[in-house]
Amino acid sequence: MARRDTPESEAWLGLLEAALGESEDGAMWEAAVPTPAAQRPIKAPVLSHAQITVDGRAARSWVRRLLKLIPTVNPRRIDGLALLEAAVCHDDARIDVLAAAGGVEPHALRVLGQMAALPLLQACARGLASELLATWWEGYCPLCGAWPVVAEYTGLERKRRLRCGRCGTGWAIPLLRCVFCDETEHDNLGYLTPEAGDETRKIEVCHTCKGYMKGVTTVRTLAPWAVLLDDLTTVPLDVAALERGYRRPERPGYPLECRITERRGWGRLVEVGGGWWRLLRRGLHHPPAPPPSSTDLRRGEA
Ligand SMILES: [Zn+2]
Ligand SMILES: [Zn+2]
Repeated sequence: MARRDTPESEAWLGLLEAALGESEDGAMWEAAVPTPAAQRPIKAPVLSHAQITVDGRAARSWVRRLLKLIPTVNPRRIDGLALLEAAVCHDDARIDVLAAAGGVEPHALRVLGQMAALPLLQACARGLASELLATWWEGYCPLCGAWPVVAEYTGLERKRRLRCGRCGTGWAIPLLRCVFCDETEHDNLGYLTPEAGDETRKIEVCHTCKGYMKGVTTVRTLAPWAVLLDDLTTVPLDVAALERGYRRPERPGYPLECRITERRGWGRLVEVGGGWWRLLRRGLHHPPAPPPSSTDLRRGEA
């Protein structure tokens, strides 16, 4: 059903399917969930300035697999970990540099980068849910700093929750306020409804900053992956908003500035280790004395 949309959104659905599969057997992403940085400003999302250590080989191979789904791209020309880090940080300028170096269309690499980051971000949302503050007043995601893609109105009381299109986190902020520019003046906030008369859908707009966000009424809250799928399959609503001069901000909600480093195997340990290891690598013409065992130590004391 979701596939009836434009060819472009079909290509993205293919990437999303791959990301979902990767997330489902993603023990390595669970293992990469970082400890939040201790010294964060009060308005900083949980992942701000986090040091994320991933299994380098597996992470690179995941990004390469995704790149292969775009026929015009040579996966060897893109540094997978650099793309992952830039995407998690929502740093489009850095992604554009990678795109230029790899001869890829920048917009395609931006979208692909976001897809590549999904398994990691979703694992972080699951693993760090307890770190979220009980109340969050900002317009951007309390976990990953992205702007919400949809406002969902759930249950009989139509409780409004904003949902992140990356990590899936949901949070509530007062009903009438623009998430992008904090406008609260009622006259400057409005909404568009689809002509077809789908009463579960609307587009919330702000006349002050010209920002828009989709809204949906649901029986129960959407699962994290359903938020992404919903966003991708309601592209006609985005088109309608864009045609009327509304847009979504180019800048990220909150720049994360986190770092992704790679966990290395034994080879690396040998490389950086002290003299004892280095001697082993050079060859054992003069085998070094082994480090003292506990028995030796005890004998020494006696
Ligand atoms: Zn998020
Ligand atoms: Zn606004």
